Amino acid sequence: MGNPEKGEEPPAFSICPRCGARLVTKNLWHSCGTFTLEGLFPKSEPVVLDLARKYVALLHTLGACGASVPGRSLVAITYR
Ligand SMILES: [Zn+2]
Repeated sequence: MGNPEKGEEPPAFSICPRCGARLVTKNLWHSCGTFTLEGLFPKSEPVVLDLARKYVALLHTLGACGASVPGRSLVAITYR
């Protein structure tokens, strides 16, 4: 594994060939399917979806995550 403190690049994400999910390791179990943030909050007030979008965007600006993967009932944030 790459060590960012030593200037090493982290290893690339593994991409699921069926759904395109970005995974931290090859063959990592996940809920294979195409999910969206919008699909997680179909009955919620619009402010809930707005908050989720802002939260994911905030994590990306911090450089803390490589990908956000909406699942059937969650959002997984992957970090390298
Ligand atoms: Zn998949």
